[in-house]
Amino acid sequence: MSVKILSGHPVAEKHKQLIGKRIDLLKKENIVPTLAAILVGDDPASKIYVNTKHKIFTKHNCKSIVYEKNSVITESDLISFIDSLNLDSNIHGILVQLPLPKHLDEKKILSSIDPNKDVDGFHPINVGKILIGTPNFIPCTPYGCLEILKFYKINVRSKHVVILGRSNIVGKPLMALLSQKFEVGNATVTICHTGTPDLKLYTRIADIIIVAIGIPLFLKSNMVKNGVDIIDVGINRLKDDSKKGYRIVGDVDYEDIIGKVNSITPVPGGVGPMTITMLLSNTVLAAERKLLKET
Ligand code: NAD
Repeated sequence: MSVKILSGHPVAEKHKQLIGKRIDLLKKENIVPTLAAILVGDDPASKIYVNTKHKIFTKHNCKSIVYEKNSVITESDLISFIDSLNLDSNIHGILVQLPLPKHLDEKKILSSIDPNKDVDGFHPINVGKILIGTPNFIPCTPYGCLEILKFYKINVRSKHVVILGRSNIVGKPLMALLSQKFEVGNATVTICHTGTPDLKLYTRIADIIIVAIGIPLFLKSNMVKNGVDIIDVGINRLKDDSKKGYRIVGDVDYEDIIGKVNSITPVPGGVGPMTITMLLSNTVLAAERKLLKET
């Protein structure tokens, strides 16, 4: 059985070409899709994420403005700042880089973003809209997973999809999206988490497994059936003897499992490239909607 490697790069490229055309149309109306990215504190990983987003936006003739805030900023000051961005007509999308310092209530902060500028799709209204089948913005990583499944024609309809991980940014939105009667959907979805006593019971009967738990090389060949399709969302640093001192691995033990799968996303180069692409897409969508409202 030959294994299909579900690289995210061609999928991201295809989307970037389509997004590019939409950006050109907006340009004719003198609109540059603009993202405000708020970075609180000096977490090195968060800085890298924000800088990477900034580079991609600039490369695609969009604007990303990075606002760096001191880690001791108060909740009310941060919310006031977000309010000012909500009112700024030149800003189409607002993103608060997570995680936030512990003294800030993440739910409160995310709820203060205008749902029409919430390009990450984390606002409770936007989460609710996904649940009732009328998404406003689809969160970028789940969106990327769906687009990979669509691009490689991995049929999810009537299949049993097992999701490992119930985070608000990956597992839960995927559960809501894949169970709807959407183009990539209508699946029977099981969601497993730290409260699941014996994960193998579910993963062994899954047609498709999506793993987002943040534990390196967690899913092994003895936990899956032959011919399974796997989306590995995990991005973990595993220490090794290389010059860098680590390598990037997913939540799936790729080498161990590869002989058993029908298809699998690699890490790196699978879901990762899609996440930023879908952020670009959501920001362009926010700009298009604003233009439509004004005309
Ligand atoms: P999280 O830490 O917020 O949530 C992890 C989830 O996994 C929790 O719901 C927890 O219940 C579950 N879990 C943890 N250990 C488990 C176990 N032993 N068995 C079953 N469930 C378990 O994580 P997250 O933010 O969803 O991220 C998950 C992984 O995905 C991380 O490696 C992260 O770096 C990666 N990630 C990648 C992208 C991307 O663009 N590719 C985007 C977001 C997150």
